[in-house]
Amino acid sequence: MDWIKLAESRKAELVSELQQLIQIESVLDPETSSGNAPFGEGPLKALQYMLTIGEQQGFTAKNIDNYAGHLEMGAGEELLGILCHVDVVPVGDSWTHPPFKGEVVDGKLYGRGAIDDKGPTMAAYLAMKMIKDAGIELDKRVRMIIGTDEESGFRCVDHYFTKEEMPTIGFAPDADFPLINAEKGISILDFSQKGNIVEDEQIIAFKAGVRSNMVPDTANAIIQNVTPSIEEAFKAFLQENSTEGTLTNEDGRYIITMKGKAAHAMEPEKGRNAAVLLSKFLQNIVTTKASLEFVSFMVNTFDEDHYGSNVKLDYYDEMSGHTTLNPGVVLFHQKRGGHVQVSMRYSVSYPFEEKITEATQQAAAFGFALDVASNSAPHYVPEEDEFVQTLLNVYRKYTVDNSKPLSTGGGTYARTMKKGVAFGMLFPGEPDVAHQADEFVVVDNLVRAAAIYAEAIVELAGKK
Ligand SMILES: [Zn+2]
Repeated sequence: MDWIKLAESRKAELVSELQQLIQIESVLDPETSSGNAPFGEGPLKALQYMLTIGEQQGFTAKNIDNYAGHLEMGAGEELLGILCHVDVVPVGDSWTHPPFKGEVVDGKLYGRGAIDDKGPTMAAYLAMKMIKDAGIELDKRVRMIIGTDEESGFRCVDHYFTKEEMPTIGFAPDADFPLINAEKGISILDFSQKGNIVEDEQIIAFKAGVRSNMVPDTANAIIQNVTPSIEEAFKAFLQENSTEGTLTNEDGRYIITMKGKAAHAMEPEKGRNAAVLLSKFLQNIVTTKASLEFVSFMVNTFDEDHYGSNVKLDYYDEMSGHTTLNPGVVLFHQKRGGHVQVSMRYSVSYPFEEKITEATQQAAAFGFALDVASNSAPHYVPEEDEFVQTLLNVYRKYTVDNSKPLSTGGGTYARTMKKGVAFGMLFPGEPDVAHQADEFVVVDNLVRAAAIYAEAIVELAGKK
């Protein structure tokens, strides 16, 4: 079967259906959410749209309490799942194309959701239609599972899988080609300063970040009882570190703001942590015990080291790379001392208990207690697995790209399945415009992805 040619011949239909889906503003909306529309009217309409067109094409459609739904074809004991989502993140600013239209300019289709995840959903949907229309016999059931809350917590599929069976194998067209078979574990660690804090600490307050999953781009502190030479020192520090900040004196107290650069916690090296920078500055300024202990801990643990070597949390493995730490929420309170919330993205083979025990001892030596606030296990399907090999081979056939499977520090939709991987549809070298202004998908890539998905489905579920 020449899937490319077939997909090419249905390009107009693909584009038109994607445009209709993009025109539904399926952003999570608490205003219109109700028992009947758990994530608001938009996400529900997008789900209904998919189920309606799918049913018209002859797929078995099922709506699971308006949380999620599926379109199914084929027959057999085993189930191949294709996990997609039709909710989108809010629009944001700086668009030069209408975000809910699906305008095509120079071969690119623009709109919120174009690449995440409405475009890939439509590519997979076309793949299913092509297989159905070609009358290819399947000895597995093939089910597109459509979620409506991927962007804000996976409540859609969590609910779905309480009512519906778990696919035997599955892929999520919601990330990168060739495929992602290793997703790191995600744990939130709390470091709290121990010991008695006296009231005349030089740091009165320190505050940076609101969520552990972002690198804080601003840090603020109020300090007292320090020498006026701090003003000169601050200027010099900003220059040496080529960063920006402000320092003002109010009734003998200094109010300091330090700028950094935001990034996602799974890639802390792409940002610049403002809390670490401010701690680094204060390390040469403050002398009272708890204040100095706090900023020293910040610098020793997190400055120029995203791997946590100083607290012995560092770890590396071949299949998923380094364990990384992001101190995303950093606080010091005059009476309660320091508190640092860290998002740790840990390698697939991380010996969790052992490392945490070691780190707890090490942190104690720095005056800090360590608690695990939450922990989501890593997700991994071995590269040698036949399922992974099948997907890789199909992808390679259509791209002549032999790159290795990928790992991620983020959580993809694939981790909700027992044996699932993320499979496309961003091709290597393409800019990742998900969640950004002027999000787009290259129309020819939609066609190519549809062909790849069709062949992969037949390889995995076709009658042998
Ligand atoms: Zn997505």
